[in-house]
Amino acid sequence: MDLQHSYAALPPHFWSAVEPTPVAAPRLLAWNAALADALGLDPALEARAAAIFSGNAPPAQARPIAMAYAGQQFGHFVPQLGDGRAILLGEVTDPHGRRFDVQLKGAGPTPYSRNGDGRAAIGPVLREYLVSEAMHALGVPTTRALAAVATGEAVFRDGALPGAVLTRIAASHVRVGTFQFFAAREDHAALRQLVSFVIDRHYPTLAGHANPALALLEAVVGAQARLVAAWMQVGFVHGVMNTDNMAVSGETIDYGPCAFLDEYHPAKTFSSIDRRGRYAYGNQPGIAQWNLARLAECLLPLIDDDGEAAVAFARAAIEGFAPAYREHWLSGQRRKLGLATEAADDEALARDFLEALQAVEADFTLSYRALSGATRGDEGGLPKTPAMDAWLARWRERLAREPGEAASRAAALDAANPAVIPRNHRVEAALAAAAEGDLAPFEALLAAVRRPFDDGPPQRPFMAAPVPEERVTHTFCGT
Ligand code: AMP
Ligand code: MG
Repeated sequence: MDLQHSYAALPPHFWSAVEPTPVAAPRLLAWNAALADALGLDPALEARAAAIFSGNAPPAQARPIAMAYAGQQFGHFVPQLGDGRAILLGEVTDPHGRRFDVQLKGAGPTPYSRNGDGRAAIGPVLREYLVSEAMHALGVPTTRALAAVATGEAVFRDGALPGAVLTRIAASHVRVGTFQFFAAREDHAALRQLVSFVIDRHYPTLAGHANPALALLEAVVGAQARLVAAWMQVGFVHGVMNTDNMAVSGETIDYGPCAFLDEYHPAKTFSSIDRRGRYAYGNQPGIAQWNLARLAECLLPLIDDDGEAAVAFARAAIEGFAPAYREHWLSGQRRKLGLATEAADDEALARDFLEALQAVEADFTLSYRALSGATRGDEGGLPKTPAMDAWLARWRERLAREPGEAASRAAALDAANPAVIPRNHRVEAALAAAAEGDLAPFEALLAAVRRPFDDGPPQRPFMAAPVPEERVTHTFCGT
């Protein structure tokens, strides 16, 4: 495996060198051949994947490190977090010249483990695998999973669980919390180095900009506006939007107690630790902006020597989030409603559809998916309410003002509105079976979520909303 080390080339206070701790009996649970191929990795890796990606036999070129970062957890600042159970092996460059981190998650303790064991249980590892693959197939920017390896060892949470290691591929692992780590130490030299690193890695068009810190802030604001709008289109609830779980690349990262909406309600939370609903579905755009304001604070000393001027520039950048988000959200909604053109009342049309769903807590995914049927006069998948009837009449009027054939409209709707999402009850069932040694439900669900827009017969069992006794109301981090 050809690995580079641009992050490890940063000064030693950015990271700590640490070797993965070997495990008793590594066994490959899942191997992402499509991703390995996209990264240009040697197909022969698969045969040695259990040893390599458990951490027992790291590639010869690996230079394993744990990254330092801080973070605002549920609003509270923690000046030192860092990779407590993740170890970066190095970076690979794909055939297009794009660079990706290769990181083992659950590979044993690091200097940042605090009281943790540095390990992960099979459930959270396979959850991240499944959900990140689903997000990728849905077109949402995300880190991805290359491999999941069982360790043959138990981890102890509420009880003993089988352990596993996830290999995560990410554009990078630099987080808002990475900037906070150095800002908290008033280490402006390190902040400058981090700004150049991130510009070089993720925003190369900003190279040579007169005000790199400000330009970077604006770019990250744009990337996050786009990302969170994409989450909202598919009903994704991240669950732990702490600043240490927000990547400056604009990829979804750190899948913990995440979930997808079944019935639509903006106040919906799933995470058992989010008792006050801070990270509820509908709060996500506001929280993203709040996190970006924390990034802005870190960059102030680099933006301008004059404190007031720096604040004014940063504030303007952060205020750019709301219009950027709204634009991404609205263009996504137009696609979801089958609108190829723009009209002034589209935003109200989009919001009123959601309101009609909310009134009866209709299924989010199935309701959008039903719109293609509704273009053919089949309203079966939509709530039968006066509000929805009135909405459908407005929508039809709006569609009548669209150019193009009605037939291609149904196809466009089905290409915008997924039939299959990783339903929480399906995910839980697959993870429970995997913990008992049966990977078949995980593999079947993975195959289905990789084809989210396909509603052919093999997909049907994965499309259904949960019946009341199947509904999952709480998810757990499992850390
Ligand atoms: P997370 O909730 O996964 O984003 O993790 C928050 C912080 O806790 C990060 O610094 C993690 O590295 C650390 N952490 C989570 N689980 C463990 C564990 N089992 N052992 C050590 N550190 C952990
Ligand atoms: Mg995290």
